[in-house]
Amino acid sequence: MTGACAKPIADDAFLAWWTGELAAPERRRLEAHLLSCDDCAARLRLAGTVADGVRALVQQGRVPAVLTVGALERLRREGRNVREYRVAPGGGVHCTVAPEDDVLVARLELPPGGDARVDLVSRLNDGEGERLSDLPLEPGASELILATPIDFIRSLPASVLVMRLVAVRPEGERVLGEYAFHHRPWPVAEGS
Ligand SMILES: [Zn+2]
Repeated sequence: MTGACAKPIADDAFLAWWTGELAAPERRRLEAHLLSCDDCAARLRLAGTVADGVRALVQQGRVPAVLTVGALERLRREGRNVREYRVAPGGGVHCTVAPEDDVLVARLELPPGGDARVDLVSRLNDGEGERLSDLPLEPGASELILATPIDFIRSLPASVLVMRLVAVRPEGERVLGEYAFHHRPWPVAEGS
């Protein structure tokens, strides 16, 4: 399928990404797009390189990337070991990373609402919150699928990561949900 992309990536944007000159919000947006858009990958005639490059970034965890269901399925089809945790708003989960895991995915259920702009604020062990602004969410999406920085998380001692989704509206911000990840390093001892 070609020509189906509604928002093709401009060549100069792609070049800026490749050379590392793109600002963080644009970089994340572009990477999320490349992961989910076969048209753009094909049009750039770099499908293999681009896809491998982006997948490497996701695996190495330099980039927290928003994935589509299709991109997640593709990673699985290609034989990547995907570990995923689903969490409802206000919920929490015990999690870890096994040595054989390639991709660590958080699936955050979204309350209905379809807000135009949703930000993600992540806070590790009550530290400073890190904000991912204006997530590339599809209209009517029922969940946010997030490929998390797997190598970083693998390196952590027992920790608590709290993700908070925030709707940004003209009248102010509203918390859509908080999601707690209670991490234990691998191997997880029984009873802990
Ligand atoms: Zn595209």
